[in-house]
Amino acid sequence: MTISHFASDDLLLRYAAGRLSAAPSLVMACHLSMSEESRGRLDVLESLGGALLEEQPLATIAPDLFDRTLARLQDAAPTVALPRYDHQRLGMGVDLPEPLRRCAIDRWRWMGPGMHFARIEMPEDPAVNLVLLRIGAGRTMPEHGHSGQELTLVLKGSFHDESGRYGVGDIAEEDDDTDHQPVVDDSGECICLASINGPMRPHGWIARMIQPLIGL
Ligand code: ZN
Repeated sequence: MTISHFASDDLLLRYAAGRLSAAPSLVMACHLSMSEESRGRLDVLESLGGALLEEQPLATIAPDLFDRTLARLQDAAPTVALPRYDHQRLGMGVDLPEPLRRCAIDRWRWMGPGMHFARIEMPEDPAVNLVLLRIGAGRTMPEHGHSGQELTLVLKGSFHDESGRYGVGDIAEEDDDTDHQPVVDDSGECICLASINGPMRPHGWIARMIQPLIGL
């Protein structure tokens, strides 16, 4: 696995600061599990943030704050074991990143010739579509824009669009300023994990007709 498209510093900082909602956070957690470089960059950014905090004047805190915090943690509900899925029934032929194995994934649904998607349950983030996209070899996605942030992480195969070529572990960041038309490479199908904030904005009339049916 040779990763060439890493998470941007802006994205890493928002992830580290807890400013991403649950769905894009999951995409980031999966990317970080696949990319040593992005993990290293995140460490650097967190160290810089820590150094900046150390330069701030010290605040006065209650002397028993630490003991009270520990007591509250001990009173908290016992940790619930998270479920773990193997997702064999989806027949993807790849090992999924560990964070994705903690999620329930619905069945494949048709979204166009040679194209399917499967919804990933993320009830705590209802404004974002979190999906697996499965696009056949050589297929061209409809050209589209976005009404918010779109993060796409390649899990299998590869695709290219106006901004480059993306293989396994690569992450693509799109926002509401960008249009693109991903094309899957001829060598095999491509499976991606995507968090899509708000509806996509397809340009072609066929895709515009289909969009309300698939709800992406
Ligand atoms: Zn897109």
